Amino acid sequence: MKLILLGPPAAGKGTQAEGIAERYSLAHISTGDMLRAEIALKTPLGLQAKALIDDGNLVPDDIINAMVASRITQEDCKIGFLLDGYPRTIAQAEALAGEVDIDAVLDIDVDADILIKRVAARRVCTQCHHSQTIHEGEAEICAKCGAALERRTDDNPESMRHRLDVYYQRTHPLIKFYRDRQLLVPIDGSKSIEEVSAQIFGYLDTKFGRA
Ligand code: AMP
Repeated sequence: MKLILLGPPAAGKGTQAEGIAERYSLAHISTGDMLRAEIALKTPLGLQAKALIDDGNLVPDDIINAMVASRITQEDCKIGFLLDGYPRTIAQAEALAGEVDIDAVLDIDVDADILIKRVAARRVCTQCHHSQTIHEGEAEICAKCGAALERRTDDNPESMRHRLDVYYQRTHPLIKFYRDRQLLVPIDGSKSIEEVSAQIFGYLDTKFGRA
């Protein structure tokens, strides 16, 4: 199974990717996580990417394409993989098509007003990097490992508005790109985490058989 998770920022791609990767034993490839790891290690790529990410801009296609092309040849991808946050441009989708045949593109659709509310409440664990939503008055402690939570540096209102503009201009055209190739699977992402998972698992179980 070679899958893509498409959708605007804060649509729930990362959360759903964790569940899908576990259920079907797929490698979870998040280009955002890979870039944040480079930033934490202060590599040349990380230093270049940090300013772009914090302002809500995309990292150049050639850098991301090379990063993913190398990642998908690794051993853990042999059984299958799930791309989360890649491709984000038509040029990336074309580069990927030159590397590998994708089986399905799950497009998680959520209205912009819901996304802006979600991003304001989104926190990430400083230890295990699990992403979660906090409610008013709740302690900022990771539900998985108990470590402190923090806000992503790009989860501020200005950056989020810009990321949404970038999404509609650069990434949204991929919906037509994959629909034309009969790969698009629309998913209603406005529902609860469990309901969105049920839609995705229902589709994948039917198409590929229960893992
Ligand atoms: P994410 O964690 O998927 O929301 O990604 C965080 C940020 O990393 C994005 O806002 C971009 O700045 C950068 N990024 C992640 N994936 C890509 C990609 N496929 N192409 C370009 N930039 C990316």
